[in-house]
Amino acid sequence: MAQKRTGREGERRDLLSGEKGTIRKKWGGRTPVLVVFPNSYHVGMSNLATHILYKTLNDRDDVVCERLFYEEGRPLLSLESSRSLSSFEIVLFTLSFELDYPNVLRILEGSSVPVFARDRSGDTPLIAAGGICVISNPEPVAPFFDLMVMGDIEATIPSFMERFTSGRGSRRDDLIGDLTALPFVYNPAALSVRYGEGGQVDGFEPADFAVTVERYRGEALGMSVVTSPNTEFADMVLAEGTRGCPSRCSFCLLGNLYGFRSEDVDLTVGEAKDVGIIGGGMSFHPRIVEIVESLNSRGIGVHLPSLRLDEVPLRLIELIKDTVKTLTFGVEAATEHLRRILGKPMTDEEVISRIDAIMALKSFNLKLYFMIGLPGETADDIDRIPELVKRIRHTMIKQGGPRGALGNITVHASPFVPKPATPFEWIPMAGMEEMKQKISRLRRAFGKIDNTYFTHDSVKFSFLQAALSRGDRRVSETVLRLARGQSFTRIHRESPVNLNFYALRERFRDEIFPWDFIRGTTTKETLWKRGKERA
Ligand code: SF4
Repeated sequence: MAQKRTGREGERRDLLSGEKGTIRKKWGGRTPVLVVFPNSYHVGMSNLATHILYKTLNDRDDVVCERLFYEEGRPLLSLESSRSLSSFEIVLFTLSFELDYPNVLRILEGSSVPVFARDRSGDTPLIAAGGICVISNPEPVAPFFDLMVMGDIEATIPSFMERFTSGRGSRRDDLIGDLTALPFVYNPAALSVRYGEGGQVDGFEPADFAVTVERYRGEALGMSVVTSPNTEFADMVLAEGTRGCPSRCSFCLLGNLYGFRSEDVDLTVGEAKDVGIIGGGMSFHPRIVEIVESLNSRGIGVHLPSLRLDEVPLRLIELIKDTVKTLTFGVEAATEHLRRILGKPMTDEEVISRIDAIMALKSFNLKLYFMIGLPGETADDIDRIPELVKRIRHTMIKQGGPRGALGNITVHASPFVPKPATPFEWIPMAGMEEMKQKISRLRRAFGKIDNTYFTHDSVKFSFLQAALSRGDRRVSETVLRLARGQSFTRIHRESPVNLNFYALRERFRDEIFPWDFIRGTTTKETLWKRGKERA
């Protein structure tokens, strides 16, 4: 067994020595680019965007791209060559989760780079960002970036880097100006925001300011380039089976932002031993059963993401039953009227009969996701969650009892966080006290159901996420306070930025949103109609 090295340099080397596929290039003359995922190696390397960026950039012979992840207390050095962030000419952050925003500032401050773009000058690297958070609403972190890139990596990064490398050596401002001429590049300093008396956005300056999200229309979707035991999918090749989701559930950013496309993963993974097929709308992949059959027949193990209970083909469950112990489903709500509003219109009978058919194949463990604090939710909707789970459990006993095998159930409740660029972008989040009471009620109810475990997301962090996801530039003050270690309670009490205004307020139908200058995603009109049709 390989012995673990000690010390921080040892940890870096252990991560590298566990990897297969690391790209190592000499720096001489090449443009050095640093890809930063503002969370741990484990989280960052489990995210396909890191791999796609790393490959796309390193595919250029004139570029050397390295990676940096954020681990509290660890040195802020690139993984490949142990260089500091300031050694690079451009730094590209991937923003996939709002609660990672404070880590961006910790990384910049820890690397002696001014956190505000306006304070940078001379040969400070260009600090840029991309990712799903940037496309949906970049404003809460806009003051910290010189540039933001909006769109799929494959569609934006090649021309972005072409322009960057040809302008290499120019003055910082000239380079930023050149890059901003690309329609998908956003320079926050080029936009002024006016606020009205009520605190809402009143307009933009220039009034016709727009940035267009660029979509990738090429053939192949993403695949991991580095495998590592230190990821969620230890040592597996990750293959992107779908991008987007046709279901367009009202709360889901992924389903509303993108169109849907799928990939014939069986033709692209080569001789991998284990493959994790990832993507939101996997249950809708037109060839998913054939793909898994084909991979299985070649002796390739297959792992799938969470599936949609009403759409997943039973044949698919049958194919994976020998390798999978736990199935994960987002049920989201326990009553039919709430599931209809969310865009998952299953009846209770359909839920039970699907579970029945699945448990007839094998006694799986189940992980069931529910949301609480949904629009129009009543106390009865909450009480119906344990009732529905009890019915599910009875179905499991009915099928598994005669076999002498009974799986367990984990129920996970998440406070509902309304997201920008979804039909729920107008909706207020429920208050924290109400959420806490609902969680206590559920905890008590599940304490009385055998073989069932109850977990939940933090109410406080969900509230913060809500404020950050639909915030404007003024919320950057909150991100800075969080980065500098202020507690949530103190920020909520003392900050001049009223977080309730962003998290808990219902928006007017015609309100201007901080992200309204973004083009190329689903229009506001369509989102509004989508929400009303389901109400
Ligand atoms: S099925 Fe899942 S991935 Fe698809 S839109 Fe709904 S929540 Fe999102």
